[in-house]
Amino acid sequence: MAKEGHPRGLYLLFATEMAERFSYYGMRAVFTLYMVAALFTMESASEIYGYYTGLVYLTPLLGGYIADRYWGNRRSIEVGGLLMALGQLLLFLSASVVHPAIYEAEGAIDPAVDNRWAVALMMGGLFFLVLGNGFFKPNIATMVGSLYRPDDRRKDRAFTIFYMGVNVGATLGPLVCGVFEGDWMNPTRFKWAFLCASIAILVSTLTFHLLKNRFLRDYEGNAIGTEPTHHEKVAKHQLSKKEKQHIAVIFIIAAFVIFFWAAYEQAGVSLTYFADQQTDRHIFGWEMPTSYFQSFPAIFVVLLAPVMNLVWEMLGRWGHEPSSVMKQAIGLGFLSLGYALIAWGVKDLDPTVKVSMWWLTGLYFIHTLGELSLSPIGLSLVSKLSPKHLASLMMGIWFMSTAVSNMLAGQLATLYPDGSSKSLLGIVDITSLHDFFMVFVVMSGVAAVALACMVPVLKRMMRDDNS
Ligand code: GLN
Repeated sequence: MAKEGHPRGLYLLFATEMAERFSYYGMRAVFTLYMVAALFTMESASEIYGYYTGLVYLTPLLGGYIADRYWGNRRSIEVGGLLMALGQLLLFLSASVVHPAIYEAEGAIDPAVDNRWAVALMMGGLFFLVLGNGFFKPNIATMVGSLYRPDDRRKDRAFTIFYMGVNVGATLGPLVCGVFEGDWMNPTRFKWAFLCASIAILVSTLTFHLLKNRFLRDYEGNAIGTEPTHHEKVAKHQLSKKEKQHIAVIFIIAAFVIFFWAAYEQAGVSLTYFADQQTDRHIFGWEMPTSYFQSFPAIFVVLLAPVMNLVWEMLGRWGHEPSSVMKQAIGLGFLSLGYALIAWGVKDLDPTVKVSMWWLTGLYFIHTLGELSLSPIGLSLVSKLSPKHLASLMMGIWFMSTAVSNMLAGQLATLYPDGSSKSLLGIVDITSLHDFFMVFVVMSGVAAVALACMVPVLKRMMRDDNS
């Protein structure tokens, strides 16, 4: 850690983001269960879930643009927070009016049950969540960067600390909201989970509102995240050659990062099927629920973030700290390695045999090393490279790659072997789990090597003195 510590504003942003992510991941943990319990078939529920997780990362483009052009980060975060609180409240109302769907046969919902209000309220809730996240997510990340001088070496560390906040929230949200899991006989019980999520984001927004003036200042003591000045608005149309090159670097890296999240996000789909069907989850006689595996990466992030910061710090002292772009390639490399481990574990495995849970645990451990190398450092990189008056829009573009990934992740997961014949783009046959995992080994491995080869070019584009 840098000797001079970090500005106090970082900890306000940490707390605000932590409570918001608590709300986001808490809702996500029970959302499909709620839909399946009373409103939709599993297939429709998965589809809605896919659209939702995709769209929440698309709206940051809009939220980033509006902040840079009109509102500034502060107001955008507050509007976003309130919209999300409203969204969660509508989900609470949806689950308050829902009727048990009295299943006639397995998976078929009794058509006599009228849940139109519950569906309408739920869709309204999702709309506000998608919109609210768009205003909140890119702007809070942009503000972390604004606390520091553009070239401050502490930025990578700062974003890693901030990222711990993300994951403390991501760990606690499902644990708390998950307590209020309902089922098909008692779907109204879910409403308490949504209410918890609503309260969390409201508390987050209120804390931010009350403390922003005190703590959110840059290195010279000027308030950050306020409305853009006239000069900044005008500057939007006049990008220098250097600024254009910096923006190009962000686009290129964001394109590579799509491969990272598309493979990483298998956690919620194919890796969960694998945990369910092919993993022995017994620990001293107790069988761990399948969904618990999904909190492993978040817990690992919280545990490993300080270690990673220390590693970068030590390497930095010896003059060997990899560049931010190289860290993106290293992140992709770790992802490939994690899948290589599990591909090896399931080689020639009989489909009826269950493997030890160490394989998945090992995969998530390695993936987290990759995530810490790529995700917070990526935010830091975007913050360093963005022209000041486009900083939030650029953050929105960065998150857009996650939107694309989330949609791609679902497609790739359909290759999970289930006995039917499957092939990747009609070229490679996927006949076993080993083949399936190798798709991700190759995909992220090739992306890692390609990006590593491009580092010198990208570094040249990033330098300030080549215009
Ligand atoms: N887990 C992180 C978060 O929720 C990652 C987001 C992303 O960039 N895909 O903020």
